[in-house]
Amino acid sequence: MADRSVQVRVPGKVNLQLSVGPKGEDGYHNIATIFQAVALYDDVRVKIAGSDSSSTNREKKFEKVSDKFYLSIRSEHPGFIPVDKNNLAIKAAQLMFKKFNLSEELEISIEKNIPVAGGMAGGSADAAGVIIAVDSLFHLGLSKSEMEELGSELGSDVPFSISGGTAIGTGKGDRLTPVLARGNYFWVFALSSNGLSTPAVYGECDRLREGMQISQPQINESLMQALSSGDAKALGKSLHNDLQLAACSIRPALRLILDVGMDYGALGAIVSGSGPTVAFLASDDDHGLDLVVALTSSGVVGNVVRAGGPVVGASIIDR
Ligand code: ATP
Repeated sequence: MADRSVQVRVPGKVNLQLSVGPKGEDGYHNIATIFQAVALYDDVRVKIAGSDSSSTNREKKFEKVSDKFYLSIRSEHPGFIPVDKNNLAIKAAQLMFKKFNLSEELEISIEKNIPVAGGMAGGSADAAGVIIAVDSLFHLGLSKSEMEELGSELGSDVPFSISGGTAIGTGKGDRLTPVLARGNYFWVFALSSNGLSTPAVYGECDRLREGMQISQPQINESLMQALSSGDAKALGKSLHNDLQLAACSIRPALRLILDVGMDYGALGAIVSGSGPTVAFLASDDDHGLDLVVALTSSGVVGNVVRAGGPVVGASIIDR
């Protein structure tokens, strides 16, 4: 039997707004966020191992995670990625196998371009890639919304990694409503070599808000207007993240990076999600390139990349 495989390309995301409500009894916060998918991609290849798979070849390339799952990761970025059952791609495979009673062996290869623990939903992207690939390989015929529903069992950013585009996320960020956004946006991302833990940033946010009356999370109307008219200048002014103060409190260098980008004429600057990636909005491609040069030569950032948005969500690029 010939091996069958599918390759899925999954974008990272930036949060244009992140409004964080009070901490709930379950310890989690309800949020209201606007996601935009950006053209920094992880490629996830999933292969059903057939009888012609040589186990020696496989052992050279893959880590054996369980009886059924083999994993290989190539990453552009520094940062710890678990190569075991804690990897979100493996969790997605386990979930799909359990739900649909599947039993074959899978080889999962991940090529990472999304920063690790960078607030750009890199792990969620890999989980989304596996869900789409398993659906296709095993002809499950799931709709996009069924796959998003499954994804929400793994993490609140997984549904958006599947849907892509620009969308409002409420609840934990997993209840999505697409936004009709006009225009293409030019983003510059200042990456950090050390990630930030999402729970630690929320914890710091709670600490900074102690004793304050926190209202329910809300989407900002002026930001929505900027998106519906495709007005990049207005969008730049409306970017807002309630976690930014907490991320800067844990990592004060982020404040300096935000200031440097604004000094060099960015239309807006924001810590993406729980950070530490900082996103700058440029007016066009050339301005984006100027910002890359300015940020790189300022010496405050090591790695700077450009990516446009919005782009489509997880998509099969090769069968
Ligand atoms: P989010 O924006 O969704 O909060 P993030 O982009 O900040 O996430 P991730 O890159 O998803 O962060 O990594 C968060 C944690 O998940 C890290 O500690 C990492 O070790 C772990 N992790 C598990 N699976 C993966 C994966 N496939 N790729 C990257 N990190 C993973």
